Amino acid sequence: MDIKQLEKTLNREPSFRLKQAQKAVFQDLIDDWGRATVFSLALREKLKREVPLEIAAKLFVAADQKTVKSLIGLADGLKVEAVLMRYPKRNTVCVSSMVGCPLNCEFCATGKMGFKRNLSDGEIVEQVLFFNRYLKKSGQRVNSLVFMGMGEPFLNCDSVFSAVEFFNRPESFNIGARHISISTVGIIEGIKKLTQSSLPVNLAISLHAADDETRSKIMPINRRYPLREVLEAVEEYLQKTRRKVMFEYIMIRGINDSLNQAQKLVRLLSGLRKSLYLVNLIAYNPTGIFKPSSSEQIQGFKKVLEKQGIEVTERYRFGRQIQAACGQLAIDDEE
Ligand code: SAH
Repeated sequence: MDIKQLEKTLNREPSFRLKQAQKAVFQDLIDDWGRATVFSLALREKLKREVPLEIAAKLFVAADQKTVKSLIGLADGLKVEAVLMRYPKRNTVCVSSMVGCPLNCEFCATGKMGFKRNLSDGEIVEQVLFFNRYLKKSGQRVNSLVFMGMGEPFLNCDSVFSAVEFFNRPESFNIGARHISISTVGIIEGIKKLTQSSLPVNLAISLHAADDETRSKIMPINRRYPLREVLEAVEEYLQKTRRKVMFEYIMIRGINDSLNQAQKLVRLLSGLRKSLYLVNLIAYNPTGIFKPSSSEQIQGFKKVLEKQGIEVTERYRFGRQIQAACGQLAIDDEE
């Protein structure tokens, strides 16, 4: 969907027409202009032609119904995945910012499929529109978003910031920036852009190692943006925004999960104010190459951090059965 096209198509109409159309699409969630009976037949036909509302998607629902993955077909035939996570009190969508990803992190299935292209702002919005339609049946809405699907959001800043601004608008989905998080491998330019942005979006950093040698082995991008530079940019972000940052750390057996690494992590983060960050430990979801850390190892690692007063959370595992968990998003043509 082209989110600017609606305005263009209606630019000769009185301005209340645009408001009616936005309400119909983003709040009433119609998927067919034929149902927008406030408009004349001619206008409905024009809208049908110029702003098609159909979303071609396949759905995969986990047995417990808490995780739903969608595989959305794009206009050029490529496909992109998005994941809905249904928590007891909120619905979060994990959105993609690219088809594939150029970063090639060793542990991530998306990286292994290579980079196809950036998504437009409309293609990002469409992922949320799709799940809002899906949730409508149960009288629910998407309440929060994480840019943790396929791709690196800060290598597609234009579309991502434009989509975030759009999500935030009352006439679209009215999802507050505080309920939106962007996860990055540490693209400095993007962190700086977020620091300067007037939208209070949350920042998450995919750290995954506490020294450059280990990190460069599993995340080649670390050679371009080494830890020290990433942390400097985070420090600036914290100084300016005072919003808590999340450091994500995948626990991979024998690679980055030793107690010695935990101590290194404590030292690495020692310059930051403890009330302004937390470490999110993520069990490695198998994608073929590595093995996940044992739960004892994870608990030991966690204790080292907690002893130093660092807040640690463990990520709840959503959607492994339907290949919808972190790092498992990769388009499989069999799907
Ligand atoms: N490129 C961004 C956005 C993707 S976020 C980023 O890397 O932050 C996806 C999250 O899932 C990241 O923290 C990523 O490192 C993590 N992840 C990737 N592969 C994983 C795997 N196999 N198991 C668990 N987490 C994984």
